[in-house]
Amino acid sequence: MIDPDRLALEFQNLLIIESPSKKEGKLAYYIADIFEALGYKCFFDRSAENTGSEVGNLIVKIPGTVPSSPIFFCAHLDTVGPCENPKIIFDKGIYRSDGRTILGADDKSGIAILIEIAKVLKENIFPHPPIEFIFTTCEEIGLLGAKYLDYNLIDANEGFVLDSENPSEVINAAPSSYQFKIEIKGKSAHAGLEPEKGINAIHILSQILADLPFGRIDEETTMNVGIIKGGNYINIVPDYAEAKGEIRSHKEEKLLELQNLFQNQFEKIISSYPVKDKNLPSGKIRFEKIFKAFNIPLDDPICKVVQKAGEKVGLNIVFKRKEGGSDANIFNENGLKCLILGTGMQKVHTTEEFIALKDLIITANLVLEIIKLKSEMV
Ligand SMILES: [Zn+2]
Repeated sequence: MIDPDRLALEFQNLLIIESPSKKEGKLAYYIADIFEALGYKCFFDRSAENTGSEVGNLIVKIPGTVPSSPIFFCAHLDTVGPCENPKIIFDKGIYRSDGRTILGADDKSGIAILIEIAKVLKENIFPHPPIEFIFTTCEEIGLLGAKYLDYNLIDANEGFVLDSENPSEVINAAPSSYQFKIEIKGKSAHAGLEPEKGINAIHILSQILADLPFGRIDEETTMNVGIIKGGNYINIVPDYAEAKGEIRSHKEEKLLELQNLFQNQFEKIISSYPVKDKNLPSGKIRFEKIFKAFNIPLDDPICKVVQKAGEKVGLNIVFKRKEGGSDANIFNENGLKCLILGTGMQKVHTTEEFIALKDLIITANLVLEIIKLKSEMV
């Protein structure tokens, strides 16, 4: 059974190992040593060549004791900053940092839970399916570990990502995200002496943006322009301007609609300018998919399993959608159906991050119940 003291101790050990994105090596080897000592096979994939991390993703295989289909659990190795020389404070059942750094419960709470699960399985008290743990790198800088994961190493085709907040809230849907970049080329000229010879790229860009909708487009779609650049001198007509932003939606067709709107607005404004010199003004607009939406229906067996496991540990599970991306978007896109479990981590990505030990324990129990229920399903 879950040993709360053993879990707490391991969690504290993990918190003091720094693991910013791309520097997950020390943590990854520490974890691999634990699993190898338990007798489980560990593999590092070759994703480091593409992610720029010190290590690949770590995959751990725990052989099943019953012939049911394999499942995976995932946690990410990296944390955001600041994370140098962390000091952990445990008071009234709550873990926090000393206020200088993040705590790193995102996602070391997930890692600690999976280590505890492996130790419980080793005790061989109950039957379980084959289990795979995936520890990804560079999640916080664009889901890179998951994007470059060697999917050939994974046998499971469904599982759970431990990377959300409340243990009773399970994430079954998340949006698609696209980033855009608009570039406008104009023509420079002295702003005071001969402005009529210039084409003002900033002016054109601002006209394109002015009539586009930004903010909350509807209840499942948002759009933001976040960066704008252009011009070097106050007295020169600027010949270049660019803007970058993002669109998120739970519906792919809404994203296409907005992309079309963007394109039309771009063409309308550009073509309204008389062509001056060498086809100027000109410009381009580029959309890049960052992650794809997923939506696991509530009647899917994986949702039923987590609901039932919740009942066994006294959690009233509610399914929610998330507005951000995570490894789960990339896994679902690659055919690994998965939900996101909360571990109790709160105020993540801030120096006020905290987690209650009781939430860590309850999530470990939830994961154990999921494994028990899965072992009964062939
Ligand atoms: Zn996270």
